[in-house]
Amino acid sequence: MQPDTALQASFLAGLAEVLGRPQQPIPLHAPEFLGHEAAYVNECIETGWVSSVGQFVDRFEAMLAEFTGCKHAIAVCNGTASLQVALHLAGVVPGDEVIVPALSFVATANAVAHCGAIPHFAESNESTLGLCPRALDHHLSETLEMRQGQPINRHTGRRIAALVPMHTFGHPVELDALQALGARYAIPLVEDAAEALGSYYQGRHAGQHGLLSVLSFNGNKVVTTGGGGAILTNDSELAKRAKHLTTTAKVPHRWAFYHDEVAWNFRLPNLNAALGCAQLERLPDMLNDKRVLAQRYQQAFAGRSGLSFVAEPAHCLSNYWLNAVRIDQPDLHLRDALLDAANAAGYQCRPAWNLLHTLPMYQHCPRADLTVAERLQASLINLPSSPALGRST
Ligand SMILES: *Cc1c(COP(=O)(O)O)cnc(C)c1O
Repeated sequence: MQPDTALQASFLAGLAEVLGRPQQPIPLHAPEFLGHEAAYVNECIETGWVSSVGQFVDRFEAMLAEFTGCKHAIAVCNGTASLQVALHLAGVVPGDEVIVPALSFVATANAVAHCGAIPHFAESNESTLGLCPRALDHHLSETLEMRQGQPINRHTGRRIAALVPMHTFGHPVELDALQALGARYAIPLVEDAAEALGSYYQGRHAGQHGLLSVLSFNGNKVVTTGGGGAILTNDSELAKRAKHLTTTAKVPHRWAFYHDEVAWNFRLPNLNAALGCAQLERLPDMLNDKRVLAQRYQQAFAGRSGLSFVAEPAHCLSNYWLNAVRIDQPDLHLRDALLDAANAAGYQCRPAWNLLHTLPMYQHCPRADLTVAERLQASLINLPSSPALGRST
């Protein structure tokens, strides 16, 4: 057999070992509604509280704060809007630059652009798949100079206003090193924890290390509200501002409409929050099932040369939102051949995102050396990861 054909056969055998041979395509990540979802959504319909106010929004926020250990959680209409508001609250203004990983979902950069700021793409780390603090330190030491206490990109003259680590597929990045870097260069940390509900870095839930952080509850995430997001923070003043700015800056009053600044209508409808409450009740079970599935993949791919399972980083607990394997020799053609074969066999596998600096709207943005990100992009393959797959035998 050709080496490629052998690798392809081995990849399919690994998938079959965990998932069997599908009659129907197995989706990458399917939501599941096995708890009180229908009951809570029905309650909204029956009481008429489907929209911008209702008790499920408050309950969802309280449950999120409790689960993550963050003091405050503010429900928002989606993850992208959450990140835009979080960046705004961190002080990002038009004309600033914001450091984001080149290997991320497009929303990370879009949120920066929606603030009128410019994404500045940084390098990934081989083991966490997220921002590499050492590569970033090196890059910043060459790029930054402090002018009147402000970190300025000496090549563009623009201020670097925030640092946005993202926890790829739920695997936590090296938060303490990035936090230290942010502190050293006077750049606030805003965590894109969209994929990381249920992930822990050194025993603390992801999203606790930044000034603010955000979650997403899109349909393919660990927990879904249909569409939704949240801002997390331990700062009570920022939490108050986040709520105010995402709810049209309406000053509370029994009947008057008074708004004291330009703001957004980014609130999460009660209907979506109801779904979210039921989902959060089942989160520990779903995380358990996802861990079992990850362990099965890890075993199934352990002895296969040329392929490596992506395991959670040291001192971390990952939610294993999306399981992944890496081809040991990064190669786009080989990766695509494996993707073709898997999808033809009914396993919905997917590549990692195209690197953000290669997209037309972000081609001209400043960036660091992205060698590792390029290698990761040419080697990562996501595997079907629905929690239900961890329960079947
Ligand atoms: C899902 C996701 C978001 C936000 O997604 P929404 O669809 O707007 O809720 C942001 N960043 C990353 C990395 C994501 O995976």
